[in-house]
Amino acid sequence: MIKTNLPVILLRGLILLPNNEIRLEFDNDLSKNIIDVSELFHDSMLLVVNSINPLEESLREEDMPSIGVVSKIVHKIDLPNGNTRVIIRGINRAKINEFLNLNRASEVLESIVTNISDENIDSKQEKIMVQKIYRELENYVRRVPYISNSILSLIVNINSLSKLTDIVAPSLPIDNNRLVEYLNELNLVKRGEMLLADIYHEQEIFDIEKNIDLKVKKDIDQSQKEYFIREKIKLMKEEIGDNSFKENEVEELIKKINNLKAPKKIKDRLHKELKRYEGMNSSSPEINIIRNYIDWMIELPWGIYTKDCDDLKLVKEKLDESHFGLEKVKSRIIEFLAVKIVSKDLNSPIICLVGPPGVGKTSLAKSIANSINRNFVKMSVGGMHDESEIRGHRRTYLGAMPGRIITSMKKAKSNNPVFLIDEIDKMTQDFRGDPTSALLEVLDPEQNKYFSDNYIEEEYDLSNVMFIVTANNIENIPVPLRDRLEIIELNSYTEFEKLDIAKKHLIPKIVKSHGNKKIEFTDETILDIIRYYTKEAGVRDLERKIEEVIRKIITNILINKDSEEMMVDDIKEYLGNKKYNETANTKNEVGVVNGLAYTIYGGERLKIEVNYYEGTGNLTLTGSLGDVMKESANIALSYVKSNAKYFKIDPKIFGKIDIHVHVPEGAVPKDGPSAGITITTAIISALKNEQVSNNIAMTGEMTLRGNILPIGGLKEKSIGAIKNNISTIFIPKDNFNNLEDIEDEIKNKLKYVIVDNYKDLYNQIFKNKDK
Ligand code: ADP
Repeated sequence: MIKTNLPVILLRGLILLPNNEIRLEFDNDLSKNIIDVSELFHDSMLLVVNSINPLEESLREEDMPSIGVVSKIVHKIDLPNGNTRVIIRGINRAKINEFLNLNRASEVLESIVTNISDENIDSKQEKIMVQKIYRELENYVRRVPYISNSILSLIVNINSLSKLTDIVAPSLPIDNNRLVEYLNELNLVKRGEMLLADIYHEQEIFDIEKNIDLKVKKDIDQSQKEYFIREKIKLMKEEIGDNSFKENEVEELIKKINNLKAPKKIKDRLHKELKRYEGMNSSSPEINIIRNYIDWMIELPWGIYTKDCDDLKLVKEKLDESHFGLEKVKSRIIEFLAVKIVSKDLNSPIICLVGPPGVGKTSLAKSIANSINRNFVKMSVGGMHDESEIRGHRRTYLGAMPGRIITSMKKAKSNNPVFLIDEIDKMTQDFRGDPTSALLEVLDPEQNKYFSDNYIEEEYDLSNVMFIVTANNIENIPVPLRDRLEIIELNSYTEFEKLDIAKKHLIPKIVKSHGNKKIEFTDETILDIIRYYTKEAGVRDLERKIEEVIRKIITNILINKDSEEMMVDDIKEYLGNKKYNETANTKNEVGVVNGLAYTIYGGERLKIEVNYYEGTGNLTLTGSLGDVMKESANIALSYVKSNAKYFKIDPKIFGKIDIHVHVPEGAVPKDGPSAGITITTAIISALKNEQVSNNIAMTGEMTLRGNILPIGGLKEKSIGAIKNNISTIFIPKDNFNNLEDIEDEIKNKLKYVIVDNYKDLYNQIFKNKDK
């Protein structure tokens, strides 16, 4: 046993066994130093130590292996990049007695080693084992495709079991720990057995993997086979006319599709979809999507038309029956229908019913449908801002549905319903597309024959639909839409119109739906409800209040056994204290003038208050005024300033004061130009310190020159004035013709004064006092 010291190369994550070679490249001086020391002092010999834990940074003596491989540098080359590449061949195992310079980072690690040789083995036994290993290896290489057979040529002439095990072990797919076991095993027989065991083990693993592969393949083949067999059975059964194999459901659907009066293209498509549905596995996620689609298409009306009633006299009777008054509106509708009947003109405009809530727009549309014998559907577009709400989503979209047009058509159950599109003025627009343009397409007879919905993907003919749209305010209808519409205005009702509607329509209707008891209302009671419990242009609230009274009466009949015949006179008993109590105008005040406004509640009095105080000529505006109204206030002030002398106001005062214009009930937004003359009057009243009578009101837009321009909603404003005990109203000259349309019932209660220029108005209100 020769003891010698050798420089050490520590391999991390690599194992070198004797009789094998390893190629290494060094980039640091210390490692290159080892090579130099080896070449200079040890005849190119060194010790290769296989570190088991490749990640361990610092080396501890107790972790170091006790056996290394004495090796020789067989080739060394200095590369142009400064690195040194070496090929090292392992020669034999050596016992490591001691390490020198361990953990002295700057010094070459050295070891003192003793050569060891393998334990002796019987040469016959060695031969048998060598042959066995060779055979098994041959067998293994033949069966396992990923082992290169070059290993066989490497060992073909090797008779030493030691050499054989060292060479074959690293070529097997075994891990480093196992290789270290080979290194440490000095008993040759045991090493040979290890090798055979590993070869068997690898073969076994290979066999198991192969079996799994086969099984997986077999499973796939089996399901393919089943599919083909199923298809074949289907065809065979179809051939012999046996339909029972597929669920009756599909048969039903086929029948339904065949019965549709849809275009051939649609039916073909549905049959195709049905085929896909039929062939689909019931666990497929798509199956429901297809089924839904088929159901939708079947339930949509195709080629279903109700027969229009052409007898316009009858139509008129039915409209009269359902709606009181509205004579002008009804005759416009009858004319519209007449033209439609005669010309069959698809391009006729679309009726747009405009008016405040509760004046009967919806119910009128319904009764148009009823009177001409068409089905009725209603779709509200208020608040709609997404085009897909009209056109639907593509089927690929999760939970996709057709848009609202198609959904409504399904509800309509016919292809020519009266289709009410409600609140067209409340539609908005945002980044998700413009519903207006989609709606334009719907309403345009040129285009709506081919209406396309993203979900149904096929054209749907809307050209026989009679569209009616409603809006509260013409101004808010998008202009391109407005151009297509025939506007028919429904105004607020007067007290007496409301009374008539209540007596002739609402009360009989409600009484009937509550069991037809003999409940009656005096006119005074109804007027009390109108005046003190409702505040509206239409009759919706009135209807609700009457319903509330009738409900309470019926409860009393049932619980207290009250008489079933009943005349309602004390309304307080049912509705409690008055909700709205228009206070009489008691006193006149300086700087306070009545204007008139047209709101969703109908006509209203709009008081304008003006104050002034020391200041520097500023104008303050309060009361939730819109831009147009603010401009009116500025125009009013400029006009008063420039005509100060005429109004007997000291022109110098404007630089020394601030003026404040306020319109009370600040929570209610107010806008529009029609308060122009009222603001002017209030400013003059304040500056002249003169009262304006509380019994007068005025409405009119004003220019900088004092010209008074016409306003809208004269009827509503008149009603508002009467409600507030106003006896005289000043109106623009150009509104004179509108008086014709106002019922005498209203006109008889008011004095209208026509004014053309503000000075006319001034002269009638203030002039006497100037004298
Ligand atoms: P809108 O659509 O204009 O808001 P509705 O059509 O919903 O109003 O009308 C509200 C209620 O008032 C309905 O019950 C309707 O029958 C009734 N109504 C409105 N105007 C009349 C009228 N002229 N004659 C009879 N009933 C009316």
